[in-house]
Amino acid sequence: MSRILQKLMAMYEAMRKHFGHRAWWPSQDGADTPEGKLEICLGAILTQNTSWRNVEAALDNLRAAGRLSLTDIDAMPPEQLAELIRPAGYFNVKARRLKDFAAAVRAAAGDDVAGFLDRPAETLREELLAIRGVGLETADSMILYAAGKPSFVVDAYTFRILVRHGLIGFDDDYASVKALFESSLPDDVALWNDFHAQLVETGKRFCKKRRPQCDGCPLEPFEHDPEAGMEYL
Ligand code: SF4
Repeated sequence: MSRILQKLMAMYEAMRKHFGHRAWWPSQDGADTPEGKLEICLGAILTQNTSWRNVEAALDNLRAAGRLSLTDIDAMPPEQLAELIRPAGYFNVKARRLKDFAAAVRAAAGDDVAGFLDRPAETLREELLAIRGVGLETADSMILYAAGKPSFVVDAYTFRILVRHGLIGFDDDYASVKALFESSLPDDVALWNDFHAQLVETGKRFCKKRRPQCDGCPLEPFEHDPEAGMEYL
């Protein structure tokens, strides 16, 4: 086992011991159903720059209005969709993004979101990144959590924790951090799924941007510098 794999797995085990299995991605219908897959994809777009609680409120509005479907989102006037997803913030921009996503999926696979997702991860990633408003983290979240295919998700928490633990430098970018995980970890979707979820929880609860709380953090036993990257991260 390589040194980096040993370290990553030890960090993962420490987080998992502390938080338990995270069972991500949160979706009411479950990632095995078409409804759950759609919910995860829409949630991945809605979660940009807001908390998950706000995303749930927006999804609940869509569900209560009977409009939680690709057809409805594609057909709905943008102002009406924006009103329904208002709790998620940036609702006019996000309404356009949801509509772009729904239109792209329908053009490729009709209303069959599960069919759209059922293709090799690299092909799916290219198609998702071609949709306006779908960035790297959003695309990888859809591939890993909705499609159940291997594509490690990197976010701001991942950067912050890895920089503070000396595993990456400030000049590393999304692609290099993703490659570090994917080339080091075993090819195991369930592990990648929970690893990202554990990093998010550690980042949210302990590794805060300005005031990291190392005391009690599951990663405290590992060599770290909580001051690292204060001015960048
Ligand atoms: S809070 Fe401290 S121990 Fe925890 S991940 Fe951040 S730097 Fe590491």
